Amino acid sequence: MVKYVFTTGGVLSSVGKGIVAASLGLLLSARGYSVSAVKIDPYINVDAGTMNPYAHGEVFVTDDGGETDLDLGHYERFLNINLTKKHNITTGQIYLSVIMKERRGDYLGQTVQVIPHITEEIKSRLRELSRDVDILIVEIGGTVGDIESLPFLEAARQMRLEEGYENTLFIHVALAPELTVTGEQKTKPVQHSVQELRRIGIQPDIIIVRSRRPLEAEARRKIALHSTLPESHVFSDYDVDTIYRLPLILEDQGLGSLVVKRLELRDSKPRLEEWIDFVDRLVYSSRTVKIAMIGKYTKLRDSYISIIEALRHAGAHLGLKPELIWLEATDIEEGKLNLEDALSGIDGAIVLPGFGKRGVEGKIKAIRFLRENKIPTLGICFGLQLTVVEAARNIIGLEGAHTTEVDPNTSHPVVDLLPEQKNIDKLGGTMRLGLSPIVVYRETLAYKLYKADLVYERHRHRYEVNNKYIDMLEKAGLKVSGVNPDNLVEIMEYDTRIHPFYIGLQSHPEFRSRPLKPSPPFIGLLVATAKIK
Ligand code: GLN
Repeated sequence: MVKYVFTTGGVLSSVGKGIVAASLGLLLSARGYSVSAVKIDPYINVDAGTMNPYAHGEVFVTDDGGETDLDLGHYERFLNINLTKKHNITTGQIYLSVIMKERRGDYLGQTVQVIPHITEEIKSRLRELSRDVDILIVEIGGTVGDIESLPFLEAARQMRLEEGYENTLFIHVALAPELTVTGEQKTKPVQHSVQELRRIGIQPDIIIVRSRRPLEAEARRKIALHSTLPESHVFSDYDVDTIYRLPLILEDQGLGSLVVKRLELRDSKPRLEEWIDFVDRLVYSSRTVKIAMIGKYTKLRDSYISIIEALRHAGAHLGLKPELIWLEATDIEEGKLNLEDALSGIDGAIVLPGFGKRGVEGKIKAIRFLRENKIPTLGICFGLQLTVVEAARNIIGLEGAHTTEVDPNTSHPVVDLLPEQKNIDKLGGTMRLGLSPIVVYRETLAYKLYKADLVYERHRHRYEVNNKYIDMLEKAGLKVSGVNPDNLVEIMEYDTRIHPFYIGLQSHPEFRSRPLKPSPPFIGLLVATAKIK
């Protein structure tokens, strides 16, 4: 029998449910079970692809080209698995498919309703996802009490009846705020959210309390009492030095064993040695390297979460601690930020991915500075495209060269749409998305990093470097070092006689970086920064 673990959230959004779900997944897979995780997002967007990263954080891209919620990134990194677009369910997807079935006549004669039609659609998707695993963790996004999440909670409630008590488990993650004046942990919000959950018909089996400091005995007692649970079913999820420590903290409190016993599975000692080793290296690496992060969503760092994590993985691997210095491209553009000052003492830089016009000239200015001052640089996606624009303008002298994304009428479209992208009339899900092969040329920096002729990375872009300008760019020292099977540019790099380490990728290597298997371009960047020092 497949086991389902549902996690819900209370009091506030962003209490870290995703990390809790991922941590529990690790504790279960470390006991030898095959575990997968699915994120439910109750909004009406079909996927996260059309959402502003400012509002929603990063769009995480799966191998199969899903544009998903950033929690899938946590699941992949903690569980070391590859998920699919089906592992991110939204209200939009559910309604879209129910309405399409209705139009086809599948429900002929029936009144189509939230119960049973919407709930059946939700349950059948979860059952499909659980097919090849022992345990499916289902994270229900949002906060209990939201109108939007009701059909999903109702589907979960029904699954307890249909799948059986021993095959379903409800974990509620909620915040216990602390008053600055008294330092007291307040439990009333948690109590209320548990009541709200019960009103919906769900009695949580386990409560995980988010708080600044470890949960006090008195607070635990109160929460257990009001939730009708033994105190041993209340766990403390307090602020830690790194998110990767949370599985260890929860394991110390006995979460892993409690969950497997409650699900009537065999318990065993979890194999966490490599993970513990990784956390130690992450925390105790003391040699700092300063990395400038140049982008335009710098006020919401979640917009670049996989890149930040990829730097951490590479850092732990090398014994380096990347210190991130965020530079807002619009501030550079408007002259509010002086590049000489901002980049003095910097060891390396990442020109971050992005879309649209805002901040572009600021990024190009920064790229010029990084190139001229020989600062080790990694350009990702838009970062590569703007590297090409900068070289075209400032080395080759093509005045006004640009990407047609920003200037559709440029006389030098060095980055442009492919013909098949020109006729697209729907923006949702139509970029070049997901995993695809890259042929890496020998005797290049790229080859030194990947050590392979053929590699795979995930993509999310619409525009491409324009092959008509390759000769000119290569003569200027910016060489192609990787292409895709259609001969489109995947990787470009400056000749090492011009710059010690400057490489740009059309793909997003950050999405495949794992704690125990860091991504080669990120390792390369950090190695280059450390050498420079
Ligand atoms: N805006 C660029 C494109 O669509 C780059 C996208 C990105 O950085 N992810 O091609």
